[in-house]
Amino acid sequence: MSHDLINPATGAVFTSVQHVDAAAVDDAVRRAQAAQRRWARVAPAERAAALRAFAASVDAHIGELAALEVTNAGHPVSAAEWEAGHVRDVLQFYAGSPERLAGKQIPVASGLDVTFHEPLGVVGVITPWNFPMPIAVWGFAPALAAGNAVLIKPAEWTPLTTLRLGELAAESGLDPDLLQVLPGAGAVVGERLITHPGVAKIVFTGSTVTGKHVLATAAAQVKRVTLELGGKSANIVFDDCDLEQAAATAPYGVFDNAGQDCCARSRILVQRNVYDRFMELLEPAVAGVTVGDPASRDTEMGPLVSRPHWEKVASYVPDDAPVAFRGTAPTGDGFWFPPTVLTPNRTDRSVTEEIFGPVVTVLPFDDEADAIALANDTAYGLSGSIWTENLSRGLRVSRAVEAGNLSVNSHSSVRYTTPFGGFKQSGLGRELGPDAPLAFTETKNVFIAVKEM
Ligand code: NDP
Repeated sequence: MSHDLINPATGAVFTSVQHVDAAAVDDAVRRAQAAQRRWARVAPAERAAALRAFAASVDAHIGELAALEVTNAGHPVSAAEWEAGHVRDVLQFYAGSPERLAGKQIPVASGLDVTFHEPLGVVGVITPWNFPMPIAVWGFAPALAAGNAVLIKPAEWTPLTTLRLGELAAESGLDPDLLQVLPGAGAVVGERLITHPGVAKIVFTGSTVTGKHVLATAAAQVKRVTLELGGKSANIVFDDCDLEQAAATAPYGVFDNAGQDCCARSRILVQRNVYDRFMELLEPAVAGVTVGDPASRDTEMGPLVSRPHWEKVASYVPDDAPVAFRGTAPTGDGFWFPPTVLTPNRTDRSVTEEIFGPVVTVLPFDDEADAIALANDTAYGLSGSIWTENLSRGLRVSRAVEAGNLSVNSHSSVRYTTPFGGFKQSGLGRELGPDAPLAFTETKNVFIAVKEM
């Protein structure tokens, strides 16, 4: 079946892709199993070299990959180039893993006891539409490094860069059956990956609703899962911080990728005694966000990904919404939405639900305890920021906020060298960091009896 793709900046169909069906998934699993058995026997140094060759191939196609993401997902070109470069960097980082995945030798009586990190086999990676390239590589790079084969199902709206990465892997010399991209519907291709007994693990990134379904379905086979789900992260601004910097960077913390970011700091919490001053500083910062043609190097924020998603985001800003101020966005065709700042009450759905668009709420708080209680008053727990010049407070509040990735005086969440993932309903397990390949292995213990010690 052919599926049309729409350019979010124009609203027009620009190409179509062929979807695969459940029978094609079964065939892909069979081929992946055979390829994985061969790959697991490849010497660690050769596996590392193969990943480095793949990274080099990505590096040679940064511009092409970025251009695809500009058209398919509406990402600003500079952001899309960063994302393609990130794929290269993550591959290079995990190319260091095959030769370091060492087990242990454990002291025991009458023999030798050693552990091995055995690959799981075939891994299914299901990705969302918001960051197609980074989220795909977070799954496939450590999985391949640990000796697995990978089947990726990209989101229906944004499959093009993932398909191209699959081609680049094969062009760089990787067995084409080792990394296969399976475009198609979640209910067909995703579902078959989760239920197929030949798929040992699912790495799922997407909404919490679908994540719960993945977890429940995988449970039938005790299938391994990693879940990276939604977020509603807090940006906590204390009165002792550099208020100018906190206000100047707050738009970056939430409007990056048009707010379609699981780590978006979509709830700004401001200490009451500096609230008015913060809002005065925030208004020009929001007005200064350049929203427009994603192909332009001046653009900081592009359109939303699709018409249905635009309608969802717009539902949080009805005519009587408590809008404090808004930035500007193009009008006309395309799924444009201006950066929007709301000042609702604490129980409004704009405060409690993940909007996943360029809409941020600002609430005042009284003291540290109130800030922590507000920050934790959510089912999610992915990331957050704390602005304070008092580093004791920064550390104390970081430890008290129930989230997996916190930053003090910064909005940075993702570094491939450090672990990433959520507390509570933001997810299960961790990606990235030096230990990520271990999540694609089973630990095997072998005891060898020795007759005369
Ligand atoms: P969805 O949950 O709708 O979809 C995610 C992926 O799952 C898509 O590929 C989708 O396919 C697929 N899928 C849908 N139904 C099923 C099913 N029954 N079985 C298997 N797979 C299925 O999420 P979105 O695409 O809307 O992504 C946005 C969400 O992702 C946000 O909530 C965001 O917070 C979260 N996210 C989390 C991140 C994190 O690291 N924690 C990072 C980035 C995003 P299809 O395209 O066909 O619908």
